[in-house]
Amino acid sequence: MQRNFLNRRTAFLLTLFLFFILPTGAQQTKPYTLVIHGGAGTITRANMTPQLEQAYYQSLHRALDLGEKMLASGQSALDVVEKVVRLLEDDSLFNAGKGAVFTNAGEHELDAAIMDGRNLMAGSVAGVKTIRNPISAARAVMEKTEHVMLSGIGAEAFARQIGLEMVPNTYFNTESRRRGLKRAIEEEKKNAPNPSFPTAGTFSARVDWKYGTVGAVVVDQQGNLAAATSTGGMTNKRFGRIGDAPIIGAGTYADSLVAVSCTGWGEYFIRMVMAKSLADRIRFAGESLKQAGDQLIKVVLPALGGDGGLIAVDRSGEPIMPFCTEGMYRGYIRKSADEEKPRRVVAIYGN
Ligand code: ASP
Repeated sequence: MQRNFLNRRTAFLLTLFLFFILPTGAQQTKPYTLVIHGGAGTITRANMTPQLEQAYYQSLHRALDLGEKMLASGQSALDVVEKVVRLLEDDSLFNAGKGAVFTNAGEHELDAAIMDGRNLMAGSVAGVKTIRNPISAARAVMEKTEHVMLSGIGAEAFARQIGLEMVPNTYFNTESRRRGLKRAIEEEKKNAPNPSFPTAGTFSARVDWKYGTVGAVVVDQQGNLAAATSTGGMTNKRFGRIGDAPIIGAGTYADSLVAVSCTGWGEYFIRMVMAKSLADRIRFAGESLKQAGDQLIKVVLPALGGDGGLIAVDRSGEPIMPFCTEGMYRGYIRKSADEEKPRRVVAIYGN
């Protein structure tokens, strides 16, 4: 009788252990990865002050801190990419949200996109001037409408209607971006073959190469992927120019295998259908993430005359951050199954 009771008690305790202790332990070891970028361009030690460099590192770490906290507590890839990009939009160092570059008309026109790799749902906004956080508007397009992309005043009316925070266009002003516009206009005057021919920002692109677009890609503890990108586009842009960031498959893409966010000379990324090309190389050509990223960004893009970089993560949590410019603000945290804490990398320059 006594032995029987002891056996039953042991069995009960063992069951408790299996149900409560083991699953908790297993949950702690589920892998996740977050990769971020803050734009690619002429980012060299020579044109950086120690204070500015410090500020960029701090901002990148802050974004990774937020993402790490969310991912460790089991939040979804979609929530993480949105929140991390919002943080970077509110950071005046980057060309997205506050701190966006100026158009030729001295305003700001913002583009953003988000994609959920679980179901290929996507949303984006283009050319918006008064939405404080375009990435949240992009998510609302995905979740609250039947559409994928809204632009200009229509997108703003939608954002206002659903109660997103609206701001005057001057909210996005910063002195450094104003200087960027001035430089771009001067350079354009010098370089334009025919000054009366509108170049739509082509020359400015070569001058003000410090883009600062922001992006985030994630694989979460459930193994789901998501991508988000937000930008003010290119300094001195005209005529409602839209870049690659809000175009699904060009600057932003996520499916069940890979999530991608791009930065660089948008026209090239659109023509190369960059983000989807990367995904296709992995899915259909059997290339590794690294092979595909290096080939597209370091071989094909410069061969065509373009410039820039991308971040991507695959289902296994493998991150890549290739670029063919002097630098790219970038970083990742990667928690693998056998590690207690995630590994963290933050970098600015090449090599
Ligand atoms: N790709 C963006 C655009 O062309 C710019 C950037 O990445 O900085 O609008």
